[in-house]
Amino acid sequence: MNIILLGPPGAGKGTQAGFLVAERDMVQLSTGDMLRAAKTSGTEMGKKVAAVMDRGELVTDEIVIGLIEEQLTTADAAGGFIFDGFPRTLAQADALGALLEKVGKKLDTVIEMRVDDSALVKRITGRFTCGNCGAGYHEEFKKPAKDGVCDECGSTEFKKRADDNEESLKTRLMAYYKETSPLIGYYYAKGKLQSVDGLGAMDAVASDITKALDKVS
Ligand code: AMP
Repeated sequence: MNIILLGPPGAGKGTQAGFLVAERDMVQLSTGDMLRAAKTSGTEMGKKVAAVMDRGELVTDEIVIGLIEEQLTTADAAGGFIFDGFPRTLAQADALGALLEKVGKKLDTVIEMRVDDSALVKRITGRFTCGNCGAGYHEEFKKPAKDGVCDECGSTEFKKRADDNEESLKTRLMAYYKETSPLIGYYYAKGKLQSVDGLGAMDAVASDITKALDKVS
């Protein structure tokens, strides 16, 4: 099954994609993660996108479409692909359709995760991850059991995303409403859209997503 998780920054797309990877042998394709990896490893492309990402603006369609194309043609996904943070523009959505067709695959469903803006600010500005294993935490909703120590690996190094601050978040939300939210209508018109309430507890959202996937499998 190939699916898109669609929603504003902080809607929980990455978290829910993680569950699906663990449970269904699916492969998560997060353009945000790919771009952050390029930024950290200092590739030419990484250097080019670093400032754009930190400001919360979108990088060019050409770059992200290239990243997705590379994965679609090389990655082996027995359980299918989860597109997380891609597509984010109508041009990217058209390109994804064409790429899937080219590799003989189809899009099964698009799951829109609905969360209101006030919840997003809190979710995003409080989140941080373990610098060693990447486990996700939140200053208010999911603190490590022992202060300053990762529950998963015991590391004491934590990090915050450079764009998880109020200023960049404003730009990211604006980009979402201007460029990405038109995809809701786009996929609705194609008969692919399903919506879940992204505001509930993580397992409640996961169970709604399971129900949505069951409808199309
Ligand atoms: P994310 O991790 O999905 O929140 O993405 C972090 C940042 O990476 C975004 O704010 C953009 O600067 C960039 N980015 C990720 N995915 C895309 C995309 N599909 N199109 C354009 N920019 C993207």
